[in-house]
Amino acid sequence: MAKRILLVDGDEKSRKLLSKILSEDGYEIIEGLNGQKALALARDENPDMVLLDVELSGLSGREVCRILKGNDDFACPPIILITPKEDVQFMAEKPELSADDFLTKPVHPLELQARVRSMLRLKKLQDDLIRSNERLQAVNERLHALSSLDSLTGLHNRLSFEQRMRYEFQRTERYGTPLSMLMCDLDHFKRINDSLGHPFGDRVLKAVADCLVDCVRVVDLVARWGGEEMVVTLPECNAANAMIVAERIRKKVEALEVSAEGQKAGVTISIGASQYPDSRVRSVADMLDLADKALYLAKSQGRNQSCYIPPVSDPKEK
Ligand code: GH3
Ligand code: MG
Ligand code: MG
Repeated sequence: MAKRILLVDGDEKSRKLLSKILSEDGYEIIEGLNGQKALALARDENPDMVLLDVELSGLSGREVCRILKGNDDFACPPIILITPKEDVQFMAEKPELSADDFLTKPVHPLELQARVRSMLRLKKLQDDLIRSNERLQAVNERLHALSSLDSLTGLHNRLSFEQRMRYEFQRTERYGTPLSMLMCDLDHFKRINDSLGHPFGDRVLKAVADCLVDCVRVVDLVARWGGEEMVVTLPECNAANAMIVAERIRKKVEALEVSAEGQKAGVTISIGASQYPDSRVRSVADMLDLADKALYLAKSQGRNQSCYIPPVSDPKEK
C-alpha cells in the first residue's frame, strides 16, 4: 500500500509542484491548504508523514507542528517543516517546535525525495516499535496470568493467595477491619478418582472451583491450595460472616452433580474458618494453621460441615 503524505501548503503553485514530485515517487498525497485543515486531516486521515509549510494562513505551520507533536510525540507521524531560508537559525534554536526535519525554500526535488524517504523509514521503525511493545505487553499479561493462576481449575494459585493474604493482613493491622479465610477440602475425593478415574476427578475439581467462585464476592479471592484443597480470602469479614459464606459453599457443593461420558457423581466438602483480629493470630501462617485445625475438626466430626474454633479465652466468641 502506498505511503500517505499530508502536504500542507497555502500556495497552490508550490503545493502542486511538491505533490507532483512526491506522486512520481509513488506516494499518495493528501493536500491541505491551511493550519486548521492540517490538524483535521492529520487526525482523520492518519498519514504516514506530514510536510508542512511554515507560512500558512490562520494557524502557522509552527503552531500546527507544536499542537500535533504536543498530543503524543510517539503517536504523531514525522513532520518536515518547509521554511524560508532566513528561518533556519530560528528553527534550529527552538527545540520545542519539535519538527523531525526542515527543508528550506526553494525545495530541491532530489533533496525532498531523500528527506521524505528517510522520514518514512523513521515512521516504519516507530510503528515496528509500537507493535513490538504491544506484543510484549500481551505476553507480559499472559505470563502474569500463568504465574498467578492454577491451570486445571482457573483459580488463583497458592502464591497468589499468599500475596493477597499478606496484603489483606496488613490492611487489617492498619485499619482494624476484620479479615477471614476458609480452608476447604473435598470429602473422600480419593474414592471418586479410584471409582471413576482421574480425568473425571479433574472435572469434579473444576466444577467445585466454579461453585466456590459463584459463592463469593469479586473482592474475595479463591485459590487452589494444592490437590483437592481450596482456600478463600474474605476481606472485611469476621468469622461469623465467614461461616455464612462457608455454609453457602458447602450447600452448593452438596447439590452439585457432575456428569461426563455417561458417569455421574456428587461430592461434599469440609471447611475450616479463621479470622483476624484473633488473640491466637500474629501472622498469615497462624490464620492458615487455625483454619486447618478447624477443617480437621470438620473432618473428624463427620465431614460435609463447616467449623470455626473460637478462642477459649473469649467467652463472647464461643
Ligand atoms: P478426606 O475426606 O479425608 O479429605 O479424604 P480424601 O480422599 O479427599 O483425602 P486424601 O488426602 O486421602 O486424598 C486426596 C485425593 O485427591 C487423592 C488425590 O489423588 C486427589 N487429587 C489431588 N490432586 C488431584 C488432581 O489434580 N486431580 C485429581 N483428579 N485428583 C487429585
Ligand atoms: Mg486433602
Ligand atoms: Mg479430601
